[in-house]
Amino acid sequence: MRAPETAHREDRIDTETNNPATSRRNFLQLAAGAAAGTVVASHATEIGAALEQAVAGEMEVVWLQGQSCSGCTISVLQGQYPTLEETLSEFRLEVTFHPTIMPEQGETAIDSMSDSPDVLIVEGSVPTQIPSAATVGQTVDGTSKPVVDWVNELAPEAEYVIALGACAAFGGWPAAENKERLYGLGANVTGAKGVQFEGRDDTGVLGPDFTSGAGLPVINLGGCPPHPDYLLLTIATVLNGHVPELDRYNRPKPFYEPLVHDNCPLRGYFDRGEFAEKPGGEGCLIKVGCAGPYTHCDDQTRLWNDGTSVCLNVGAPCIGCMEPDFWDRFEPLDTEIERQSFFGPISAEQAGWAGVAAAGAGIGAHAVRKATGYGSFKGDDTTSEHTQTADEAGEPDADTSDTEEE
Ligand code: SF4
Ligand code: SF4
Repeated sequence: MRAPETAHREDRIDTETNNPATSRRNFLQLAAGAAAGTVVASHATEIGAALEQAVAGEMEVVWLQGQSCSGCTISVLQGQYPTLEETLSEFRLEVTFHPTIMPEQGETAIDSMSDSPDVLIVEGSVPTQIPSAATVGQTVDGTSKPVVDWVNELAPEAEYVIALGACAAFGGWPAAENKERLYGLGANVTGAKGVQFEGRDDTGVLGPDFTSGAGLPVINLGGCPPHPDYLLLTIATVLNGHVPELDRYNRPKPFYEPLVHDNCPLRGYFDRGEFAEKPGGEGCLIKVGCAGPYTHCDDQTRLWNDGTSVCLNVGAPCIGCMEPDFWDRFEPLDTEIERQSFFGPISAEQAGWAGVAAAGAGIGAHAVRKATGYGSFKGDDTTSEHTQTADEAGEPDADTSDTEEE
């Protein structure tokens, strides 16, 4: 198996101090590395300049947690360039409420919560059928106040609303179909929804027409958890007055446009038709459930843990966590996704060899992908009729480069 990439970490080291420390330079490197031609990259200088300015006034952040494991908070707390703390102080953000990291408790904590935050961040899904499944504080009559009520109250008052993680963005695991009816329960028993989306539909808590004070929809940062850079760079972008380019699911394109399969370190195995029989084995991991051909994010180049590694670098199949509905679309996560869906009438092996043959014939990757048929998913009604672009198709599984040139 190919060794994990480490160059990305070196890219982030401050070349003047040789210290991967907390500096504007590091932030700029991070911003510029997001993706060429993106809003974040093209405005990296301005974003950096803003960090140096004394920003008048303070910006208030409210961070709500619904049905959450707190994994998204933990992920963001691992951000390095800049750290969450730096982001907050540089932009003079004030987290007026965060159930995990704030020192205050009880009424004191609730009282400190801004009722018109500049940024509302929601982590975890929002239960709508059983609202009491996630509550924060109390109402005036002394009963527990559901998170859904907080979201409905605060979102219209916020300049920006960010749904952090698969649960807040799309409903997440709590919204799963529970196909095996484990514990005798049905599907999505709490009525879990994302803040503006419910799976791939914009029928979440706030509905399709919602826009925040800045005129933006809820910015969805999918992932279970999402990369810490996604939140920190998104905050930096919007607070500098830039409008992030969003995809059909309102995810910032710089982070969610690349296809995992295109940048996978194991791609050579796939093209040669060499497949691992178990996670960690030698070869492409498609037979043990890899969802990389359907999953869009820049993790393969951004890497995690201070630019150290990513799932596929350590033999773990991509489970597609950046995509809406991944828990139902790609389960069971350790089993090959129905081959017919990926390859049409040909097998994974044949698809791999078709790639080798096509490469030998000088055919581009986009043509190979189209020829082998992967990148669409059985049951994706949105991909069957429209295969122009991910946006036009309204479906991130439709690969842009496959179709436009042919
Ligand atoms: S998206 Fe994943 S990490 Fe974040 S709260 Fe949900 S289950 Fe936890
Ligand atoms: S199927 Fe998965 S493991 Fe195989 S090349 Fe694609 S992303 Fe990599």
